[in-house]
Amino acid sequence: MEKCIFCQIVAGDIPASKVYEDEHVLAFLDITQVTKGHTLVIPKKHVRNLLDMDSETAQQVFAPIPQLARRLQTVTGASGLNMLNNSEAVAGQTVFHAHIHLIPRFNDEDGLTIDFKTNEPNFEQLSQLAKAITNEV
Ligand code: AMP
Ligand code: ZN
Repeated sequence: MEKCIFCQIVAGDIPASKVYEDEHVLAFLDITQVTKGHTLVIPKKHVRNLLDMDSETAQQVFAPIPQLARRLQTVTGASGLNMLNNSEAVAGQTVFHAHIHLIPRFNDEDGLTIDFKTNEPNFEQLSQLAKAITNEV
């Protein structure tokens, strides 16, 4: 079976602009650069996405993110940053090796648009849903 593109980057078979590496995690610049400094943080082991990730891998992936985010901010001069994960095609995932997007933010027209459609709160529904989620094993 052909290796996934991010496994090929981990293996050094294809190049990437690396910005962080440790035993379990690699971070490199996204080739599309939605904004300047747009970075992907990935586990070195192949995991499909967040829905497929164990806690240990999640700890490894998330641990370096705050410091990396501050480095991105300092170098790019960004005012803020969005952290984003797309899990499965319906959520916009196109590369099926888990990755966290770190997207420095500069202003409203810097390349990233996030549009939360808001609804009136229904407290009865919220309460039922919260119970179901809490009780799910
Ligand atoms: P997603 O849509 O969340 O799966 O994001 C996949 C991201 O991977 C996209 O933003 C692509 O620009 C990026 N990407 C794909 N191939 C490469 C590559 N060889 N090096 C760096 N980034 C890549
Ligand atoms: Zn992979």
